[in-house]
Amino acid sequence: MMEMSCAEHHNYAAASRFITLTVGRVLGALKLESTPINTEGYEALLGLVENTSSGDSFDLYYELFMHHENALEILERLGLAFDALKNQLFGYLHQFVGNQLFGNGNADKVAAPLQEDQNGTALVSSSTSKAMRWQNAAQPQDHKAQISDRFVDNNSRLKIAIVGFGNFGQFLAKTMVRQGHLVLAYSRSDYSDVAQKLGVSYFSNAEDLFEKRPEVVLICTSILSTEKVLRSLPLQRLKKNTLFVDVLSVKEFPRNLLLQNLPLDYDILCTHPMFGPESGKNGWNGLPFVYDKVRVGGDESRVLRCNKFLDIFAREGCKMVEMSCAEHDMHAAESQFITHTVGRVLGKLGLKSTAVDTNGYKTLLSLVETTAGDSFDLYYGLFLYNMNAMEQLKMLDMAFESLKKQLFRRLHGVIHNQIFEETPDKSQV
Ligand code: NAP
Repeated sequence: MMEMSCAEHHNYAAASRFITLTVGRVLGALKLESTPINTEGYEALLGLVENTSSGDSFDLYYELFMHHENALEILERLGLAFDALKNQLFGYLHQFVGNQLFGNGNADKVAAPLQEDQNGTALVSSSTSKAMRWQNAAQPQDHKAQISDRFVDNNSRLKIAIVGFGNFGQFLAKTMVRQGHLVLAYSRSDYSDVAQKLGVSYFSNAEDLFEKRPEVVLICTSILSTEKVLRSLPLQRLKKNTLFVDVLSVKEFPRNLLLQNLPLDYDILCTHPMFGPESGKNGWNGLPFVYDKVRVGGDESRVLRCNKFLDIFAREGCKMVEMSCAEHDMHAAESQFITHTVGRVLGKLGLKSTAVDTNGYKTLLSLVETTAGDSFDLYYGLFLYNMNAMEQLKMLDMAFESLKKQLFRRLHGVIHNQIFEETPDKSQV
């Protein structure tokens, strides 16, 4: 129960309600569908669409538009925020293609997908034969490493080397350390202080990291830099059969990259924990974890190692979903991109919590909070590796424009009647 003057209510509620209904209506026009692996953010958007489309009439929306003096400004600001985001994306794209055409074409280059023969079978690329050379050059394990391996096998502890110790790498490391795994890390930037606080051994170069002969190498680099980072790793320092795991938010791309670049006897597990430092800050219980055992050797120790790694997430209560990388991308690429786009557009509006937030508005605020912590690189990766991203941006654009047209058409109709009819009905305005 909250007593407040009508004027106060208007101040607090009108803007937030109008924004919420606008977003709900724009998304409603996209006909979003639930997937087997919805993120929390996407679930929230689906809920918002359902509330706005089933409960609220266009009349109600129009009334809010008419009775809120800043409604036009809000529409304009939403449009500007969306334009600014698109310009940012297209600016990156332009620079990226420019680099490829006129110089530095290898920097953060997008990997060419595996070529396929007429039967659709992946052809072994030159990089695969390079991988085989690495395999032959693999150094014999030293005695000390063998002892420590036996120790690790006998316990459920894993020795995990995280490559890319940014936002997400650190977030995963916390839980791994808490579970008793031995966690090592290496990144482009110096994270030695953070690592020390987390109980992680930090290495300033990959050679030293791999000298420690980890059982699992966990790739946590940005989608855009993964190819460059992977190619720069001194794989010959690793022992044979190392398990490579990635956590990239897209899956077909790293799958092809790992298959192309890793020696044939290395295991590959592609995963996507479908939560982040914000949505997973209160634990991972019930949050989806998607994985694809792309290549895991048949002997018991390799199967066990892979299962031990998966158990890190299962033990925390994640909803474990085994699914091919292709299927993941089919379900997730669109929903992730739309969710991040809406979060980023709203983030540019500087929305604030009010004394009378509706559930819908709370959803928008929490979406902004969840996406605000993610890097632009992450968002740009989702854009670049989603075949339908351009189409989705266009559809969002069209849905927003069409909603505005609907409002203005009605406004125009009312004013037209007032001008040309003898007794205008002012209550309709
Ligand atoms: P991100 O911006 O996608 O990646 C940051 C990481 O990439 C840092 O470790 C950074 O190293 C490294 N990196 C970026 N550019 C590099 C370059 N040119 N050379 C070498 N390293 C480079 O942010 P993130 O949130 O930490 O995500 C990491 C991965 O996890 C991504 O692939 C993302 O798709 C995936 N993921 C993220 C989430 C999430 O909620 N954040 C959820 C699921 C999966 P430095 O910090 O040392 O510069």
